[in-house]
Amino acid sequence: MSTATAVPNAAVSFLSDRINALEESQTIGMAKKARELAAQGVDVISLSFGEPDFQTPQYIKDAAKQAIDEGFTFYTPVPGIPALRQAIADKFKRDNNLDYQPENIVVSTGAKQALANAVLTLVNPGDEVIVFSPYWVSYEEMVKLAEGVTVRLVGSLENDYKVTAAQLADAITPRTKLVMYSSPCNPTGAVWSREELSAIADVIAQHPQVFVVADEIYEYINFVGEHASLAHFDAVKDQVVTVNGFSKGYAMTGWRIGYLAARKEVAAACEKMQSQITSATCSITQRAGLAALQGGRSSADEMVAAYRRRRDLVLELVKDIPGFKTPQPDGAFYIFPDVSAYFGKTTPDGETIQNACDLALYLLRDGHVAAVDGAAFGAPQCMRFSTAAADEKLAEAFRRIKVSLAKLQ
Ligand code: PMP
Ligand code: GLU
Repeated sequence: MSTATAVPNAAVSFLSDRINALEESQTIGMAKKARELAAQGVDVISLSFGEPDFQTPQYIKDAAKQAIDEGFTFYTPVPGIPALRQAIADKFKRDNNLDYQPENIVVSTGAKQALANAVLTLVNPGDEVIVFSPYWVSYEEMVKLAEGVTVRLVGSLENDYKVTAAQLADAITPRTKLVMYSSPCNPTGAVWSREELSAIADVIAQHPQVFVVADEIYEYINFVGEHASLAHFDAVKDQVVTVNGFSKGYAMTGWRIGYLAARKEVAAACEKMQSQITSATCSITQRAGLAALQGGRSSADEMVAAYRRRRDLVLELVKDIPGFKTPQPDGAFYIFPDVSAYFGKTTPDGETIQNACDLALYLLRDGHVAAVDGAAFGAPQCMRFSTAAADEKLAEAFRRIKVSLAKLQ
């Protein structure tokens, strides 16, 4: 267990301390670099951004067009239109056997805003937030905005990077306010089983002051079958904020819609937060989200078949790359190899690869493949490659990576 240290950006004196202390999202930063290179005519393969490469299913697009044609273009209630909140409650029952009422649901501008709402409404300055590490890139920065103190709890490679209940029990202190994790996990692809979450629930139940944000945005992209929700365990249900959304399962990243479910005081607080910052998300997007849920999950199932095939393809390709230690991801669409075998090696230009950031920049420069430094996810020995790309692109990317790495001495 270690406490996070923030690397300060170059501060600008007239900006707030808050923004000066904040890091840019590295997933977005690397995607920006790849786009800049592509604009110069370089044939870049970007495996940096975690984004489905599929189109949003047509029936969802049609619902949005209909909403526009019907003039559904006004502000909606801040936590979402009643029909959508009800459909989300129904989805929780159908998929997760969870009983939520519409008053427990807040629809937001992406799961990202749902996460930020939860952190900002629960965390006081100085509160400790335990983040299962490797973690999704924005968790720590959100905690920083809330002036909380991140405590990284690191899962071991041997346990597929999954933090255990025993680790959690040791890490909780009287100052702990929140625990955050994603399952399936971005970046590792790890999926916590029902038994593992049951043990975690037993620990949480002993600390009624502790809340947990369970980020389930990759719920549908799961290759082991069963998705388990922490809120399923009655003893802790009121302590859990379940976050989910449409970006991954329905390939709706640009529509900006996600949601959370929580006890009603927390949901009402998130609504208040949102009412002062963004109000409701887009009315048209909400009608699209409603159609998505009414259509069930069969469109997701088709995409998941492709993600599984690509995962298998990439794991085969990676076997051919010496020095990459890669647990098999059980969900999401990333591989997260330990690449530290390359640290200390020298590039053909005489530069020493000190860390995964140097390696990511070298692969971009030499192989024109963009990936993200694992430090952004709390694992500086690793790199993240998205597998949400066409099979031929993945094959070409890993061919290039192999060639570039072979030049290191
Ligand atoms: N949580 C995780 C684990 C993610 O990978 C992402 C990235 N999309 C989000 C939340 C945010 O998703 P959204 O696009 O719905 O804001
Ligand atoms: N979730 C995606 C990723 O991890 C999108 C990037 C982001 O929102 O930061 O790459």
